[in-house]
Amino acid sequence: MISVNNVSKQYDKQWALSDVSFQVTKGEIVGFLGPNGAGKSTMMKIITCYLPATSGIVKVEGYDTLEQSIEVRKQVGYLPEHNPLYLDMYVREYLSFVAGIHLSKNLIAKAVTNMIELTGLTPESHKKIGALSKGYRQRVGLAQAMIHDPKVLILDEPTSGLDPNQLADIRQLIKNIGKEKTVILSTHIMQEVTAICNRVIIINKGKIVADEAAHALVKQSNKPILIIEFGQSVSPALLKNIEGVLQVETLPNNTFRIHAQTDVRQALFTFAVNTKNTVLSMQQENTNLENVFRQLTKN
Ligand code: ADP
Ligand code: MG
Repeated sequence: MISVNNVSKQYDKQWALSDVSFQVTKGEIVGFLGPNGAGKSTMMKIITCYLPATSGIVKVEGYDTLEQSIEVRKQVGYLPEHNPLYLDMYVREYLSFVAGIHLSKNLIAKAVTNMIELTGLTPESHKKIGALSKGYRQRVGLAQAMIHDPKVLILDEPTSGLDPNQLADIRQLIKNIGKEKTVILSTHIMQEVTAICNRVIIINKGKIVADEAAHALVKQSNKPILIIEFGQSVSPALLKNIEGVLQVETLPNNTFRIHAQTDVRQALFTFAVNTKNTVLSMQQENTNLENVFRQLTKN
């Protein structure tokens, strides 16, 4: 369980986070989505006790990140952005080193072996980290984050730079592990959210602009948008009155972009006939998650 209450963070004069609040419970895999510079990494550093918030309270499994940071660190596995690793260490050696920070001596070997198996590192486990491909380094990063079996996982862009096969593997791995844990992962890839997450928090310029179930966001992105061109001028207010129409944008040449709740094509034709107008063209605009994301984060 993670609870973030009214957190703001200031770097010099710049506010990287402004009054951010949300909670994440066990079993949730939350996608932290936002353009570069939105404040995702900053939020993650605060949750993992790497940075203090300027104001606000963050608790992890009930422990305060400022007052009880050692307890918080015990609960959290963290894969930082850019996945810093000791390239001169061997995979098994490095994981044993990390395990030794958290676990008593007699538990280390077993934890390392389990993690190597779980993350699919077995064929590479005897190599130096510096010799591994990006995908395998990412697995090492995940393995070090999970080696002490933390309740909470904070993964900062865990799949950045992976090829499509590696991407599928790592996503599946996170999804499986996430069932038993509280997970926040950051990404700027919309597809990632639909592939892994059950909830999405979109952050832009340090503020939360959406916090929804992943399927709700997908649904929102599937609402039809029509571009319609009339023969004669039309008052947008009349279009707005048509049942099912949510929003009307006026474009040049008697053309409108209509956001609708349902399929309103029939209603638009009837409207044209009843007002002695004509429909010159009508086409459906493709909406997808990327459009929703762009709409929410364009300012
Ligand atoms: P994201 O991870 O979403 O790309 P960050 O949290 O890294 O965003 O950054 C949010 C904003 O804070 C950016 O404008 C970034 O330049 C700024 N920032 C991040 N870290 C520092 C720092 N240590 N000092 C000054 N500004 C920073
Ligand atoms: Mg970042």
